[in-house]
Amino acid sequence: MRKLIAVLLCLSLGCPGYAQGEKYVALTFDDGPSGRFTQTLLAGLEERQAQATFLLCGYRIREYPAQAEAIFAQGHEIGLHGYSHGCMKDMCREELDREIADTLALLPEGCRPAFLRPPGGKYSQAVTEAARQAGLALLGWSVDPRDWASHDAATIRAAVVRQVKSGDVVLLHDMSWSSVEAALMIVDALKAQGFTFLTVSALAQQTNTQILPGRLYTRF
Ligand SMILES: [Zn+2]
Repeated sequence: MRKLIAVLLCLSLGCPGYAQGEKYVALTFDDGPSGRFTQTLLAGLEERQAQATFLLCGYRIREYPAQAEAIFAQGHEIGLHGYSHGCMKDMCREELDREIADTLALLPEGCRPAFLRPPGGKYSQAVTEAARQAGLALLGWSVDPRDWASHDAATIRAAVVRQVKSGDVVLLHDMSWSSVEAALMIVDALKAQGFTFLTVSALAQQTNTQILPGRLYTRF
């Protein structure tokens, strides 16, 4: 009974770790950097004073190093999204270690990533082990508007705004104009509702969540 009361109290008061009334959310952008979209996205985020997290692919960083530098210079968080964007679940340990090491080697100087988001969110025990050994936690998401499947920014925005709660991690992609437009519309809509946009690590800190290498996090 006492346990039930504690659970009910927790539900009615919200999650511990949040200051009352404050709402936080983390936007995450996969598949960049991009020579076409990153710069516009960064300018829009800066204008709105919103921080975000970019899960970058090694082969893209090699192609667009200046965009990776700009993401880092603007104070956003950078995480790994594999080197080749191949399915990590299907890779042997040796391939996984190479994917991670080759991507780490290309990151801007001073960048210390905390997260790996395997492409498609698909992972195996070997992925978990490889991440753990590289000091990386696995990052999933809790809100997925399937922005890659839509070309309509308003639809993507509506899908996020409809379901987002404080502590959510929103999955978006740095690879189409509709995603960029939607992301900035999401920031405007949720800021008006009192949300603050944080990097994933800052969101974890906000909730006193300790990030442990090899563990999966989907929301905070
Ligand atoms: Zn991806």
